[in-house]
Amino acid sequence: MRYLPIHFDLRGKTVFVYGGDRAAEAKLRTLLKTDANLVVISETPGEEIRRWAEQGRLTIVADADLSTASLIYAATEYPNENYRIAETARAVGIPVNAADQPAGCDFITPAIVDRSPVAVSIGTEGTSPALARALKSDLESRLPSSLGETSKTIKNLRDQLKVDEPDIAKRQALWATVLGSGLGDYAELDSDTVTARYNTARQLSAPQETSVGHVHIVGAGPGDPDLLTVGALRVMHSADVVVYDRLVSDEVMSLCRREAEFIYVGKIPGGVSTRQDEINRIIVEKAQAGESVVRLKSGDPLVFGRAEEEFAALDGAGIGFTIHPGITAATAAAASLRHSLTVRGENTAATLATGHDEQGFAELDWTALAKPNARATIYMGLRAARFIQGRLLLHGASPETPVAVVENASRANEIIVATTLSQLPDDLTSNGIKGPAVVMIGYDRRPSAVALKAAS
Ligand code: SAH
Repeated sequence: MRYLPIHFDLRGKTVFVYGGDRAAEAKLRTLLKTDANLVVISETPGEEIRRWAEQGRLTIVADADLSTASLIYAATEYPNENYRIAETARAVGIPVNAADQPAGCDFITPAIVDRSPVAVSIGTEGTSPALARALKSDLESRLPSSLGETSKTIKNLRDQLKVDEPDIAKRQALWATVLGSGLGDYAELDSDTVTARYNTARQLSAPQETSVGHVHIVGAGPGDPDLLTVGALRVMHSADVVVYDRLVSDEVMSLCRREAEFIYVGKIPGGVSTRQDEINRIIVEKAQAGESVVRLKSGDPLVFGRAEEEFAALDGAGIGFTIHPGITAATAAAASLRHSLTVRGENTAATLATGHDEQGFAELDWTALAKPNARATIYMGLRAARFIQGRLLLHGASPETPVAVVENASRANEIIVATTLSQLPDDLTSNGIKGPAVVMIGYDRRPSAVALKAAS
């Protein structure tokens, strides 16, 4: 190891950054996260740097006495100039980094995964910046954004424990119990869980394995794994049990931890289904057994997902849960249509409605939906299509109202049917649309740039 990774305290210290362009800006983006007193030496600083100066986050000067700095970055756009600054800095003994000049560097800035006060630095001693970026992106996706908060909670608990438990070996054993071996458990490391585990471990005279189960209610999105959130992916990677619905795609399923127990609770419209109270029972029991449960629901769990019933069951059993929102079918379908759900000056509301409720076809506010420019996305609306058409026409909607049906939004087998209200039921039949699909009233399909070019 030629370079020693150290975490250098910059509070109250001055850092010089030479240069006002892209290279300087890149260095400053990292340095702005620190407590350093930042001085930019440039006669022509770029817009971003000037904006930071206006915000009082750094000062810009044309020239300065280099010996007053603790660290120096030579980040002008001119390699020779950077080298020259590095030479001068070294002559007065101040550590210097020269952009794109490995030979002119006393130190290099690593790739950083910032969960302040937790920071992971990754360096390859310049051998492969691409490898450093890949490692960084892997860690970014696995370390929860709450890690910094968790570390502060741990500090408070440690301070308390030092008073309560003088035996250092016992303290260390307790922390090993609370934090485990780490790997794969990051998603569990939020402040509440750590505090609960800590309290349990303290209650038991000898430190031992604790079992606090937790349920993650996770939005699996419409099917394309690219639409998962980073947080969803993280908890899927570390799940003990995955309880999943029919509409969760195979691609998304394949991203769950392989060793997990998989429980299918799909509800098939008009077919065999798992009753909601059975689902509630499963997630409660698995969590009570100390497992980390991922309840994977298609789209966004909070949109036509009966999530409230699962929350109530978990609350009733005193089990903690975290909600991970997902991309709902309406937004994925709108993206496929290349249209916005709301259009300024046209619709002031974008309704998300269901075609079905417990009573049968759902009665919606037809007067509002029949108005020109009204826009609504109807879930579970295929069987109700003729009913919806009849109601809207009865309430004065134009037969020419555009309607788009998006089946399997975001998936490889996605189909878009762009039709009108008068043609809706026939076009569903002629295109063999079976679902899952959303019926989007008032939306059409924006032609692709290629199609537009061909037409002109
Ligand atoms: N929570 C889900 C909705 C569940 S209700 C969400 O936020 O998307 C089930 C209905 O969602 C289906 O009947 C269909 O109308 C819609 N849906 C789910 N996935 C879809 C997809 N990939 N494409 C189009 N519609 C979908």
